[in-house]
Amino acid sequence: MPAAEISQSASQSRVRQLQVGHVSDVGLVRPHNEDASLIVESVFEGDQAAETVGLFVVADGMGGHQAGEVASALAARIVAGSLMQEVYIPYLRQATHQADQLPLTEALQQAVEAANQAVHEQVPGSGTTLTCALVLNARAYLAHVGDSRAYLYYNQELKQITRDHSYVDKLVELGQISVEAAAVHPQRNVLYRAVGQGDQLEIDIHLLDLPPGSRLLLCSDGLWGMLADSIIQAVLASARSPQDACQELIAAANEAGGRDNITAVVIERVGK
Ligand code: CA
Repeated sequence: MPAAEISQSASQSRVRQLQVGHVSDVGLVRPHNEDASLIVESVFEGDQAAETVGLFVVADGMGGHQAGEVASALAARIVAGSLMQEVYIPYLRQATHQADQLPLTEALQQAVEAANQAVHEQVPGSGTTLTCALVLNARAYLAHVGDSRAYLYYNQELKQITRDHSYVDKLVELGQISVEAAAVHPQRNVLYRAVGQGDQLEIDIHLLDLPPGSRLLLCSDGLWGMLADSIIQAVLASARSPQDACQELIAAANEAGGRDNITAVVIERVGK
């Protein structure tokens, strides 16, 4: 290839739109890691298209005798499998979203309902949180149940996207206890909504834009329960890469005591 063509093709090469980091750690106290996480990232370039599709799941299981880790892993697999079938494979076949496809929010809803059913039937007596982000280029579609969290860091600000489905969060909402009291409340881990605990499940759905330079964090409560939002924000602001951010967050949570399993997934939309 002549030099002129090489330099032209180099200038036309695109930077990947998403960068992803991920760490899951058992922490310093628990014998098992009952968190599950699943990441699927697809980069497609061709025929003027440059598409990025990402699927990110964090689930935190509960229930004794290792049922928690079975429940979280099952929920993560089922939700990802359903979204691959309903969203990703049709996207590959047709390149554009077709009218006969499920709307994305409904596809998310259906995926979490399938996970709910599977955990309810296959791991009775257990349950799991589930926070799932389907990223299509610059947009993220989130489905959420439980007290894992999604945060968006952008422009020097950290915003918590999801609400915890925990009793203490309800008490804070009702003005009965303070955020500070909730953080040390003995029942702060008790959830009123979890995947796998009944037929009817209410699922929170959020849509958000990912501006260039933003970082989306999905994490289990072993992370946010150990670290103040100001620390999470500082790490997301300063870490050189999403993987560095995850490693620094897990190290900080362990330094603070590591009382629970800790999972962090950071998705960065590349750009200024
Ligand atoms: Ca946990």
